[in-house]
Amino acid sequence: MTIKIGLVGIGKIARDQHIPVINEHSAFELVAVASAHSELAGINNFESLDEMLSKQSDLDAVVICTPPQVRYELARQSIERNKHVLLEKPPGASLTEVEELVKLASSFDVTLYNSWHSRHALSTETAKSLLQTAVIHSVDVQWLEDVRKWHPEQKWIWQPGGLGVFDPGINALSIVTHVLPSEFRLQSADLSFPENKQTPIAAILYFEYENGAPIKASFDWRKEGKQLWNINIESDVGSVLLTEGGSRLFVDGEEQTPKEKKHRYQEYSGVYDRFQYLIDNEISDADCRPLTLTADAFMMANRTIVDPFLDS
Ligand code: NAP
Repeated sequence: MTIKIGLVGIGKIARDQHIPVINEHSAFELVAVASAHSELAGINNFESLDEMLSKQSDLDAVVICTPPQVRYELARQSIERNKHVLLEKPPGASLTEVEELVKLASSFDVTLYNSWHSRHALSTETAKSLLQTAVIHSVDVQWLEDVRKWHPEQKWIWQPGGLGVFDPGINALSIVTHVLPSEFRLQSADLSFPENKQTPIAAILYFEYENGAPIKASFDWRKEGKQLWNINIESDVGSVLLTEGGSRLFVDGEEQTPKEKKHRYQEYSGVYDRFQYLIDNEISDADCRPLTLTADAFMMANRTIVDPFLDS
């Protein structure tokens, strides 16, 4: 039976990915949206989640595409109305609120899915299989992009709870926590905050892997020209490079990326396949490790104030 979805927050990611992917997915049907300042033709539009939940009685699931700061209330309301919930990443603004949602979903017997879209990039599963029993020597992550290009006019990313450069950086953490076979923990971090903003524009994180191997991650929003989303893993199975955000995989310089052409909606079709699987099997997937590592960085970091960031 088709799973009827109501989506909250028609912004960039809802329009770029969720709406087209839901429309192409055979298991789902988008029947309503709730957005205060946007509309979508052809389906029921509501100004708030509350109104959507009251008037659209056939909803099975709610997909929340708002910024993280307002997720908790929306997810709580949806679960309390017996809806399955898909949360865009990061799953919340704090760890406590996500833990509460996990308990609530369990008590209402609905699926809660903390989605991490980068884990569904074309080459991440191949890298994970390759590294399953590998000895890790070191990991170097470089997530360098231009905030003006990717987040124009998004005020929430600079506000408390918006995560700043961790908004993309957490995607790298979601891949590294997925593909490495063992756990790692933060040792120290350096965060750079623009004088006029509440969230960091750059971060350098130093972790230690279970066997003592160093893991370094550099996130920077001031990169102009070529953008970099690279994870380089030195191991006893070779030098493993995941590049272009997990789309392409090289081992000792040889490309391993599957031959089939990258599907336009690769990552998000993987997200919705997983949501379907979770609902069908009456389970949740509420992995919080990328958010926990991010919280650790905010707790332990040296903080440097840098030049103000001017939006234009
Ligand atoms: P966005 O373009 O700013 O859209 C978010 C939408 O949420 C807004 O259009 C707004 O619609 C609604 N909203 C509700 N409360 C809001 C508030 N307090 N402040 C701002 N908007 C509010 O953001 P986005 O880029 O789609 O990102 C949304 C989430 O998706 C973020 O957690 C982000 O990390 C994640 N994500 C984004 C991308 C990307 O490429 N942009 C990629 C992957 C994941 P109404 O005002 O109409 O209600």
